[in-house]
Amino acid sequence: MRQDVAAMLAGASRVLVAAHLLPDGDALGSSLGLMHLLAAQGKQVRVFSAGPVPEEYLFLPGMDQVSNVLPGTGDLDLAVVLDCHQPERTGQASGPFLAKLPRVAIIDHHQGAVDFGQAAWVDPTFAATSEMITLLAQEQGWPITPQAATCLFVGVQTDTGSFRYGNTTPRVLRAAADLAQAGADVWAISQEVYATHPKRLRLLGRIMDNLELSQGGRLALSQITLADLERLDAGPADLEQAVETLRLIPGVEVSALFRQTPKGTIKVSMRSRGKVDVSRVAISLGGGGHKSAAGVTMEGNMEGVRRDIAARLRQGLEALS
Ligand code: 5GP
Ligand code: MN
Repeated sequence: MRQDVAAMLAGASRVLVAAHLLPDGDALGSSLGLMHLLAAQGKQVRVFSAGPVPEEYLFLPGMDQVSNVLPGTGDLDLAVVLDCHQPERTGQASGPFLAKLPRVAIIDHHQGAVDFGQAAWVDPTFAATSEMITLLAQEQGWPITPQAATCLFVGVQTDTGSFRYGNTTPRVLRAAADLAQAGADVWAISQEVYATHPKRLRLLGRIMDNLELSQGGRLALSQITLADLERLDAGPADLEQAVETLRLIPGVEVSALFRQTPKGTIKVSMRSRGKVDVSRVAISLGGGGHKSAAGVTMEGNMEGVRRDIAARLRQGLEALS
């Protein structure tokens, strides 16, 4: 519940904030936004992030304070887990660390049952964790500084696809307006977040070359190998645009992109135009996400994983007609 989380935050003076691996705009925006808000309340705040930060988010105020080193348990009163609700989603070392802490609060907007933490506010009706934190700050009467506003704006902007996706509610538009009012410079932020990197466009070209449309054009599948990524000096963060683009092909209801990882697993990113719930497919395989955007990492080779996922998505499509 929201009140329990607010009470835990109010009672803590040394707080660790951690979001999910492969952080996106909402993971980083909500983490740094909360850091600025709590620091202004006189609290000592550390932000943990396990993986590398995508370059478009390096400009976020306070990014220099993000660390991939975990503190000692004695240095903390509370850990806050953001934008995910499973300890292992935060990273390999932080998962077990968080799981044994006595006080963990969760703020998240992803689907799925929560069986972790001492207080959890998990509500998939929110478009972004950053939207939830904006609301919490307003309810608690915490002043939103321009730094906090910038971070939180990036979270709501990126998780709504710049206010285009189905999760773009009047409530999240109001939150965005409040953040702009509080000092988020929309044009300056957009230039950073949506800078067009040639390598991403080349990657998109590669993915479009591999595109396979089936089910009467309703299912779009594509893949990218480790070799493709290495040749273009690209990483997972460079793929976000491509995954979204597959879904925007006219007629496509569900899309999936398969990526080979350095560990030899296959990362699956699924997107739906809204009718098929891709989070059900992801959750049934140990992953997670939202109705229209979900993911999972699977063992096996590209062919096998692709066949398995395609069959599940076809089932989802067939259930519609
Ligand atoms: P993406 O396809 O962009 O990696 O992820 C889409 C959505 O699914 C995001 O909300 C992300 O947090 C979630 N997601 C992706 N992969 C996983 C996973 O392996 N486990 C869980 N629980 N969620 C995931
Ligand atoms: Mn999010």
